[in-house]
Amino acid sequence: MWEVLIYGFVILLSGAIVWYYWSSGQKRSKEVAAKVEQAQEEGRFQPVSLHPYIDPHKCIGSGACVRACPEEDILGLIDGKGTLINASSCIGHGACFHACPVDAISLRIGTEVRGVDLPHIKPNYETNISGIYIAGELGGMGLIKNSAEQGVQACNNLAEELPSECSCETDVVIIGAGPAGIAAALKAKEKGLTFRVLEQDSLGGTVFTFPRDKVVMTSPMDLPLYGKLKLNNTSKAELLGIWNEVLDKHQIQIEEHSKVERISQIGAYHFKLDTSKGEAVEARSVIIAIGRRGTPRKLGVPGEESSKVAYRLLEPEHIQGEKVLVVGGGDSAVESALLLADHNEVHLSYRKQHFARIKKGNQEKLEAALASGKISPLLGTNVSRIEEKKLSLVREDGSEFEIENDRIYIFAGGELPIPFLQDAGITVEKTFGKTLRKH
Ligand SMILES: Cc1cc2nc3c(=O)[nH]c(=O)nc-3n(C[C@H](O)[C@H](O)[C@H](O)COP(=O)(O)OP(=O)(O)OC[C@H]3O[C@@H](n4cnc5c(N)ncnc54)[C@H](O)[C@@H]3O)c2cc1C
Ligand code: SF4
Repeated sequence: MWEVLIYGFVILLSGAIVWYYWSSGQKRSKEVAAKVEQAQEEGRFQPVSLHPYIDPHKCIGSGACVRACPEEDILGLIDGKGTLINASSCIGHGACFHACPVDAISLRIGTEVRGVDLPHIKPNYETNISGIYIAGELGGMGLIKNSAEQGVQACNNLAEELPSECSCETDVVIIGAGPAGIAAALKAKEKGLTFRVLEQDSLGGTVFTFPRDKVVMTSPMDLPLYGKLKLNNTSKAELLGIWNEVLDKHQIQIEEHSKVERISQIGAYHFKLDTSKGEAVEARSVIIAIGRRGTPRKLGVPGEESSKVAYRLLEPEHIQGEKVLVVGGGDSAVESALLLADHNEVHLSYRKQHFARIKKGNQEKLEAALASGKISPLLGTNVSRIEEKKLSLVREDGSEFEIENDRIYIFAGGELPIPFLQDAGITVEKTFGKTLRKH
């Protein structure tokens, strides 16, 4: 009798546990499916760059990829299979790729429905134009370590292939000072090449602009003239500090705020680069290490060169008690305005009358902030002049008005790097679902 009761109890308990896991799995699946539906509606389901592709036949639903991803709601599980959710926010660092216990994840660029423009690059990182090389994320494969390795290899190959006869003083111009450009510059120094590094913004590239301090590097990276860099979970400040230290030690100058606007070929292994400073730099070869994020679009108004103007919000916690104007109608503008509104007097200027192209969550938060007066809207306006303590704006009817102002953030989109490459004669191909990394 007792035995029957014990067996019955064990069976019931096991059943209850199985039911509990099954029903909570079902609940989570429904939540993820709802998020996928919302991402599809809001145009965030299709990845824009490198992203995980989950093989449904191999996936065992361990959830290791979901836990490994440091970003929010990019991956989830539906009915025990991994799925992409807000894939357009995937930054392609592949933590999920490494975490999967059954190697069900590969890293792809483009999907069957959304093609991605990729420059054509030979195995030695040279483009279709002899003497022009591409390194780093621009070629499709992101991550700090990969980009740095490509910068080194591109420079190594270039040093071997560069013909000696050329009238140019400079062997190579490196465009961009992100991980790829910095590593290429160190390699160029090690190889004894003459070179210049032109950076439109600040040293560090995308790393400098990370909205968080944490940087993940899953394996050590070799840095020329420094050695092995063993940093697993490091900070942005530490990594930038190391780069600055090694560049200083070897007297390598990064020419910041110098954007390359055009590359023209003058002859074989002879290029001219026009910069935003009005300089024409000639070189025997070029390494393009400009990443995939492009150049922020400027307003082109008087006073825009002022130091109070920025095109990204790096450390909102340091901005307090100021009169701030945020310009733009997209998610970046709205998110920045919301972040700043807690401790500042924020105006949000948008040239249209409605914020039609923002995420649902941002729309709701914005409506609440506008209703409570936390953010003051300036709809149907354009900035016309920036001065030290004030700004002029112009309405749709042409009338002008002024507001007091300490700081201005402009989010007016950007120029993508692909037209810049095409203008230089580099072949670009549309790629639909190409696997760049697999186990
Ligand atoms: C939010 C976020 C978090 C990330 N987290 C990690 C992480 O934790 N670990 C990791 O390994 N990777 C991470 N990544 C990916 C990593 O940052 C990139 O893959 C890497 O920075 C690419 O290096 P790059 O040198 O190819 O390009 P970038 O870092 O993008 O640098 C390109 C540089 O070129 C400059 N430039 C562009 N056009 C011109 C021009 N015409 N003239 C002159 N200069 C120009 C840009 O200003 C920029 O400084 C993250 C990316 C993002 C967006
Ligand atoms: S590549 Fe990185 S951001 Fe993208 S899903 Fe994998 S872990 Fe998340």
